[in-house]
Amino acid sequence: MNSKKIIIAIDGYSSTGKSTLAKQLANNLGYVYVDTGAMYRVTTLYALNNGFISENHFNINDFVIELHKIVISFKYNPELKFAEVYLNGVNVEKEIRTMHVSSFVSKVAAVPEVRYQLVKQQQEIGEGTGIVMDGRDIGTVVFPNAELKLFMTASDKIRATRRFDELTAKGDAVTYEEVLHNVRERDYIDTHRKNSPLVKASDAIEIDNSSLTIAEQFDKILKLVTEICS
Ligand code: C5P
Repeated sequence: MNSKKIIIAIDGYSSTGKSTLAKQLANNLGYVYVDTGAMYRVTTLYALNNGFISENHFNINDFVIELHKIVISFKYNPELKFAEVYLNGVNVEKEIRTMHVSSFVSKVAAVPEVRYQLVKQQQEIGEGTGIVMDGRDIGTVVFPNAELKLFMTASDKIRATRRFDELTAKGDAVTYEEVLHNVRERDYIDTHRKNSPLVKASDAIEIDNSSLTIAEQFDKILKLVTEICS
């Protein structure tokens, strides 16, 4: 049993298995898991559903005025063993994982007002310790003092294959090329935006899981947590 409770910040590129690892750690350690990507996805879903985004235009000025209308909450689902995300009281866990949302989310996440609002909420959720949070700026901006920071990488082709398998298993009609393009585009936007770009924190431990199984990765990280908490 680990007595000391810590903050575990997991950052990294799209589809590097951050949420799989975060869920495993949270369930094993009895920590709260917060999927910050889900919060950016919910915000994007709102923008799409309310006409702020069309095929070739994102009406940022009007959208930021409405940001206060977006209420994001998480509710633990004991069957799935993780907290599902809600937009204004409606479970949107499935809607936010589509390619349609994926293709706009990085543009929405680059808007400073969006980041300001969501980072504030993330810091409030994590006020007590015993948190696993995954995203792009957790170790650098949201919790710069996190006791354990991980930075996950894997080759873009491996990541696209994983994401493609996940989407097609759910019945989404996507092509591998589309998914690879989306992974690369999000990497580019996430690492090049002005406001809190995706970058490895200087004190983060880099995990390249291109050739690690999920179980091997989990064992490796659990050992690190045990060392810190003992
Ligand atoms: O983690 P996930 O792939 O669901 O995140 C979706 C998108 O949300 C990312 O590609 C990124 O643009 C944005 N994001 C972010 N900062 C975070 C988490 C996600 O900018 N902390």
